Amino acid sequence: MIESQDQLPGERLEPDQVFRFSCGPHLACFNTCCANKRLPLLPYDLLRLRRSLGLSSAELLERHAEMDLDPVSGWPVLRLRLTAEGRCPLVTPQGCGVYADRPAACRTYPLARAVRPDAQGRRVEEVFLRQETPACLGWEAPRALTPRMWVEDQGLAPYQAANDALLPLFCHPRRQGRLELRPPQIHAVILALYNLDQWRQVVARPGFADAQGLEPETVEAALASDEALLDLGRDWLLTQLFGPPR
Ligand code: SF4
Ligand code: SF4
Repeated sequence: MIESQDQLPGERLEPDQVFRFSCGPHLACFNTCCANKRLPLLPYDLLRLRRSLGLSSAELLERHAEMDLDPVSGWPVLRLRLTAEGRCPLVTPQGCGVYADRPAACRTYPLARAVRPDAQGRRVEEVFLRQETPACLGWEAPRALTPRMWVEDQGLAPYQAANDALLPLFCHPRRQGRLELRPPQIHAVILALYNLDQWRQVVARPGFADAQGLEPETVEAALASDEALLDLGRDWLLTQLFGPPR
């Protein structure tokens, strides 16, 4: 999230500004970048990885995620757990083993994306930044792209939509400075955004809908779709962490 333009790492690219990049197994650097990264896993990343790997959300969290608290915001941050050698556990000699469902950060590279929300959590600015590293040979390619083309090429639209839908939670106006979440609140965040199987069980409990003032259709939609379940998790957390809307 953009809080100051000075914080942005890398050269800024406008949506239609041309850069040159290509990646593939023909390059000597192929697969070398799937290592030694602090790769963030956002809720929609976990949703897609869970489908791809056929794991329960609890198994996925246990095997492939680690959590710490962001030192600035205090928000729980999940990252991909690397192997003892520092490699992504999902990489294969042929490339990414979960390519169709790879996380947003993998798709966005060699760019990074930052957004600035307004007071209601609506996106008002989107910025792309070059993440050029010396070991990456893709920058020597003749293929001309723009950030807008890259978003399309990498299938980023559903990831960006899902991530932007969480902005009202991440930048709530009642969040004053660093969040100081208590352990049950951290558990609630992990439950409702990342552990969708367990969250689904909570939503299905008799009495949950009434206690939360939810319409039956909202609950039915959430039980039928991971995406709707995640939306409900966000809305539930808004009240759990910041109180009812005024
Ligand atoms: S070109 Fe860059 S992104 Fe592609 S495999 Fe090589 S290091 Fe990774
Ligand atoms: S998820 Fe795929 S693209 Fe991302 S680091 Fe792992 S192997 Fe590489």
